[in-house]
Amino acid sequence: MSYTSLSDWNHCTECGDCLVLCPVMEMERDEATAAISGLLHHGRSERVFDECTFCFRCNNFCPQGLRPHELILEKFLAARKEKGAMSAVYPYLFNGMETSLWKDLYARLTQNEQSILKKWSEMPPPSREILWVGCIGRLSCVDIENSEIMRDLPKYGPPELCCGELAYRLGSWKAYVRTIEKTLKAFEKLKTETMVCYCGSCYNYLSNILPRVYGRKLPFRLISLYEWLDEKRKAGALRLQKPLSLKTALHESCYVSELGQGFAGSLRDLYASTGAKILDLPHNGERNLSCGAVSVLRTLYMPSSLFKEQNIKYREVRQTGVRDLAVNCPGCYITLSLTSRFKGIKLHYIPEEVLQAYGDRITRPLSSRIQLFVRSFLRRFTLPLKRVDPEASPAPAVGED
Ligand code: SF4
Ligand code: SF4
Repeated sequence: MSYTSLSDWNHCTECGDCLVLCPVMEMERDEATAAISGLLHHGRSERVFDECTFCFRCNNFCPQGLRPHELILEKFLAARKEKGAMSAVYPYLFNGMETSLWKDLYARLTQNEQSILKKWSEMPPPSREILWVGCIGRLSCVDIENSEIMRDLPKYGPPELCCGELAYRLGSWKAYVRTIEKTLKAFEKLKTETMVCYCGSCYNYLSNILPRVYGRKLPFRLISLYEWLDEKRKAGALRLQKPLSLKTALHESCYVSELGQGFAGSLRDLYASTGAKILDLPHNGERNLSCGAVSVLRTLYMPSSLFKEQNIKYREVRQTGVRDLAVNCPGCYITLSLTSRFKGIKLHYIPEEVLQAYGDRITRPLSSRIQLFVRSFLRRFTLPLKRVDPEASPAPAVGED
């Protein structure tokens, strides 16, 4: 099984809509049809391999309901493999690997933080709603555990469980399947009606990719933290305590276009309810440009296409007349953090600003965790990195070894 075997590519009419509407390449029709034909019949298209940022957007444009993003990803990786040009870096980003960024990050947390993660590894008591805390949210475990707003939500998030996003986005279908199967097995034991996803990426992977691509469904309802907070706000259960006085451009993540208007609307309504005045970038909406993070697939370390993508983003921010950029995705926030300060752009992390505006204390913002990422990377990449095979079985997970 692979990404593309889950779609019937005989239904592709080679119309080229996906690449004509691609916000990065905006191909002419003839070039687009030739590129799709090249991918389907010869496994390659040089321009697509050089410029695609693996942003998902083209999946929304296919009249046949196919997922050209996954076709491009699979063919691109096959070509890299053939050349022996696979990076040893990116499997380090997957949760569940023997050598994993997430293991290294959690090992750097304080004793108190590690004891919270240990508590979240246990099955929560039966509850109408529970909070699922994925890989990145665990780095904010103290603030989530002490949150007044989320006080009544039992938390669940064993460090070795994951929605599988990084394995999927960075092209290891086998690692994705292994990760999500392990997570599904654990989820089957949960006694709840609704799972609230702290992270929007987890929400996309569990509510969208899991049923639409992998063909599996969860035994409970899923809702994103934004939708949950917005429902509470509309029901009068949240009181604005520290209004934001801010005019900011909004960066929409890859999963905003995948999840559609319901998710995007709640996010905007909720953020605007704090007092933030949102300015749209020319590329927001269904043709939004990504933060460039997945371009890391193109070279061993930092691809120039990441900087190219981010420079376009910052130019669009300046066109709005402000120097502030609000971001909802933790991956986008971390990736943009690498360059934003050098471009004079101030980043805002929406979930933290919303929780703070409605009365929570944020003592360990994601911005303060960037150093943990940097230290973990430096340690691994100044030592000889053991070549990691993402297709191999993982070693015992965190807490099991
Ligand atoms: S994944 Fe994004 S950049 Fe690549 S072809 Fe599709 S829309 Fe274009
Ligand atoms: S994947 Fe869809 S949009 Fe792209 S060429 Fe095939 S049918 Fe057209």
